[in-house]
Amino acid sequence: MGGIILLVGLVGMLGSLGYLVFSVLRKRPKKSAGIALGVSAIAAVIGIATSAAPLTLSVDAVQLTTDAQGAAVIKGETSEEATLHLDGEEIKNNKGTFSETIQLDSEKEHTYVLKATLDKEHKDEKIVVTPSKEFVALLEAEQKEKELLAEAETALVLAESEPNQKNFDEAATLVEALSKTYDDHDERLATIKENIAIYLAVETAEKSLARKDFDEAKKQVELASLNKEDLVGRVTALKTKVEEKEAKDKLYAEATKAVENAEKSPSKDAHKSAADALAKLPAEDEALTKRVAAVQQTVKKQEELALKEKQEQEQREKEQLAQAEQAHQQKEANQAAAANQAEEHVLVTRTGKKYHTYKCGNGDYYEATLSEALGRGLTQCSKCY
Ligand SMILES: [Zn+2]
Repeated sequence: MGGIILLVGLVGMLGSLGYLVFSVLRKRPKKSAGIALGVSAIAAVIGIATSAAPLTLSVDAVQLTTDAQGAAVIKGETSEEATLHLDGEEIKNNKGTFSETIQLDSEKEHTYVLKATLDKEHKDEKIVVTPSKEFVALLEAEQKEKELLAEAETALVLAESEPNQKNFDEAATLVEALSKTYDDHDERLATIKENIAIYLAVETAEKSLARKDFDEAKKQVELASLNKEDLVGRVTALKTKVEEKEAKDKLYAEATKAVENAEKSPSKDAHKSAADALAKLPAEDEALTKRVAAVQQTVKKQEELALKEKQEQEQREKEQLAQAEQAHQQKEANQAAAANQAEEHVLVTRTGKKYHTYKCGNGDYYEATLSEALGRGLTQCSKCY
């Protein structure tokens, strides 16, 4: 600025001097040229005065410690016309003084560079700002809180995705450990708590696959305020499983009943019914299979026993028949013998006309029955009879 005024003053002086010379030579009034020359001279003097003013910069302290919040004030004086930059950012020059509040954002000290510029001249000052112990403690506390908050958030998200007592307790403990209260946390914990029973009902039904538990879970899921869509999906899948289990249970009940019947009254038909019922089962049941095998053994033994009895009966009948036949033959033989014995025996000869009771003459006597002798037309020997 001073330079420009000086330049204007010098040009003005030259101009007005020329005008003055011209006025003297032409004998014209010299008053206005004189005034112009005077004014120009004054301007030149002012220009010299101002342009000669040196650039100054001073700060109150080059070592600063922040307050408990991490703030510090850099203060000082500079030339009125100087432009100030602190770490590259322009700060206000308030007619030669400045006061800038800075804020540290970490526990590390920071060296600020203050630069004053005037025309082409510049000056630098370095100010080292150290965080106070209180500020370091505050940062540490804030960091700790931030970590705790992140942990609480993670626990809350987990509990919201899977509301159960364990997840709820963990989230609640972490929320309690925070130094500040967050409204949103209490609401979220309350919601999680409401949904624990709903999830429990669904899990119970998924484990038991019982119709009663399924109905309860379905009713509870209607009230869900967390992950309802997911829960509805689980209940829908559950319905199919419950129906499948019921169908399976029915098959097992039928198979068990058939096996019990076969055990109570073992027969070929009862065994077949039991085996058929077992074949309908979705998976082989070892215990029932063993019981059916036992029934089969029993039936087989029964059949063998029946066959043996039949054979024995046949044998007995055959023996009885044989005995009867023998008895009959014996009887006939006896009768024949008796008849034989009953018939009188006589002695005859081949050529004789008589039958005898003893050898009453010469000849070849042999024994014959009376009827035989009579049949041949023989008559009683008069000697013997
Ligand atoms: Zn005779």
